[in-house]
Amino acid sequence: MINKIEIIKDKLEKLNLNIVITETILNQFLNYYNTLIEWNTFMNLTAITDLDQVVEKHFVDSIVLGQYLDLNKMETMIDIGTGAGFPGLPLKIMYPHLHLVLVDSLNKRIEFLKEMIAKLQLENVKAVHGRAEELARDENYRAQFDLSVSRAVARLSSLTEYCMPFVKVGGIFAAYKSSEIEQEVEESKKAIQLLGGELAEVKIFPLSDTEYKRSLVMINKRKQTPKKFPRKSGIPTKQPIT
Ligand code: SAM
Repeated sequence: MINKIEIIKDKLEKLNLNIVITETILNQFLNYYNTLIEWNTFMNLTAITDLDQVVEKHFVDSIVLGQYLDLNKMETMIDIGTGAGFPGLPLKIMYPHLHLVLVDSLNKRIEFLKEMIAKLQLENVKAVHGRAEELARDENYRAQFDLSVSRAVARLSSLTEYCMPFVKVGGIFAAYKSSEIEQEVEESKKAIQLLGGELAEVKIFPLSDTEYKRSLVMINKRKQTPKKFPRKSGIPTKQPIT
């Protein structure tokens, strides 16, 4: 019978990442899976719980960014609306040199993340409770990151307002999206430009060997985000820039 470590290893090795999949990495992912499933019995963290589904749709889906961006060149990363740690934590496991900040507006998810960070013995990771709109006004976070990532949080126009203020000029915002992205990108053009960004590319690809299609929208930060953004909490989703 194939054991859990073998399942994780098999799926990670199918990715084209140029990273040696060490015992440490495999054990961290197994530990992540076990803890996620344990906490999921009393807290809403994930709808999928089978090991191969979690590996594919949470772990692999998170780290696939490494196929399109050289994360070795990045030093600092922030994950907005990270929930149970996706995509930030799997990226940190694969790229341990990264300094990572995980942000979520639900404190119980932050409690879970703090426990996970301790269990996986990860260094230079902080889990912060707060809303993106408020944290982006804090000088310790605004324009401090080489990379901002976010998955399943809001439509692209609102998400750009959440994420772009955190990125340094010269850095990147990478939005994890479904493959039905064309219209969303079109609707976000004004927001991207107003917030100091420039659309770099949209990658649409199948997730590993499944039929399930995903996309990554990559936006370069060209100019400082004007001080009036992000607007007050809730406004970026209620009145998206169009
Ligand atoms: N990124 C994770 C994933 O892909 O599994 C979680 C996605 S979950 C659908 C959306 C998360 O974003 C929730 O945990 C929610 O609390 C958080 N969130 C929503 N709006 C936010 C905001 N304005 N600032 C910070 N977190 C936010």
